[in-house]
Amino acid sequence: MDYFHYSGDRLYCEEVALDRIAEAVGTPFYCYSERTLLRHLRAFQEAFRAVDHRICYSVKANSNLAILDALVRHGAGLDIVSGGELERAQRVGCPAERIVFSGVGKSAAEIRAALTHGVIMLNVESEAELYRVNAVAAGLGVRAPVALRINPDVNPRTHPHISTGLKRNKFGIPHGRAIALYTEASRLANVVVVGVDCHIGSQLTDLAPFIEALRRVRGLLSQLRAAGMDIRYLDVGGGLGIPYGEEDAPPSPAQLAEAILTELREEALTVILEPGRAIVGNAGVLVARVEYVKSGEEKQFIVTDAGMNDLLRPSLYNAYHGILPVVRRFDREEVTADVVGPICESGDFFARDRLLPGFQEGDLLVVRSAGAYGFSMSSNYNSRPRVAEVMVRGERFAIVRRRESVRQLLENEQLFPGEA
Ligand SMILES: *Cc1c(COP(=O)(O)O)cnc(C)c1O
Repeated sequence: MDYFHYSGDRLYCEEVALDRIAEAVGTPFYCYSERTLLRHLRAFQEAFRAVDHRICYSVKANSNLAILDALVRHGAGLDIVSGGELERAQRVGCPAERIVFSGVGKSAAEIRAALTHGVIMLNVESEAELYRVNAVAAGLGVRAPVALRINPDVNPRTHPHISTGLKRNKFGIPHGRAIALYTEASRLANVVVVGVDCHIGSQLTDLAPFIEALRRVRGLLSQLRAAGMDIRYLDVGGGLGIPYGEEDAPPSPAQLAEAILTELREEALTVILEPGRAIVGNAGVLVARVEYVKSGEEKQFIVTDAGMNDLLRPSLYNAYHGILPVVRRFDREEVTADVVGPICESGDFFARDRLLPGFQEGDLLVVRSAGAYGFSMSSNYNSRPRVAEVMVRGERFAIVRRRESVRQLLENEQLFPGEA
């Protein structure tokens, strides 16, 4: 459910027409609906209200400060994966008791920063990281709260690039080695074991893998408790899928909650969730202008001013994104075409062989469901400045990240110093 809708023939984000924003800020740009964002957050909060819980939004899905600020002000915590994301969390005043630190390659500096600011826990992904956390904490004279991220070896049945809970994935500690490493952790002087963590993948459209993973983790939990460890947090990760196409019907946060809480009924725990995509994915669109309509020998191409550097998901995962006209025209015939960008790569596309309205040069279009892993994965490939980001709140909109300039892009570069 989102707040992008047609009124007459114009596409609106909440109460603002997208062509009006395009006129004001130019194209391409990302447009986010704050109301959609908060609606999704609330869906999680309500789904889990029967138990002690923290909704720690996964910052990497979309790390714009205005988005983080809106979520944190409405009670969300944050799941961070780098020192940069920690700074963002600090910038929006996210309380330490609402932050979890995930990630497979935390540097000593990042661990130090997290322990200095304070976090609920560090989700540790390897034996080597455990020893590093212990050493850094010792240097600071503190005890680091940790969870071990368990790789339960379940198949999330999603795209291989976004599955993380299989033996062959780099993430987490193999399920079979968990007890030994927890025992080791409980012996270290500068760590405190406080939780268990598990995140099996992204864009999951079926509850079965969540349940399977949870059952494995629950088995572990009782063993740890029997061994006298005080496990207070169970972090079940993120990963809930969203509808990208009309036929997609992923589980709702309420259905996810029911499945999780059924498994955890009698456990005295704080449940942590790390949703990213499910909060922000359908709260954002990418707005672009048609530069050219081109007839190839076999195909029609609609060339837009946005490219794979702005939204990588179709190129990277062959992901489906809906395409809509910003102004509907019923007098034009539909065509089957590819929507492509200006980048010098054949993988630079947003849609392939899609039945579309008859776009013409200068028309505006939106690429839907682009709020998650859109801007945050964008790059400057082909020396293209990154696009502007706009947030809508009711009848108002604001630029929440200015369009980059080419000058900013070249700022850090210099020629090799000459001899004379
Ligand atoms: C990316 C990630 C998430 C968020 O995943 P979504 O599919 O966007 O919900 C949560 N936890 C961890 C550890 C992640 O790496």
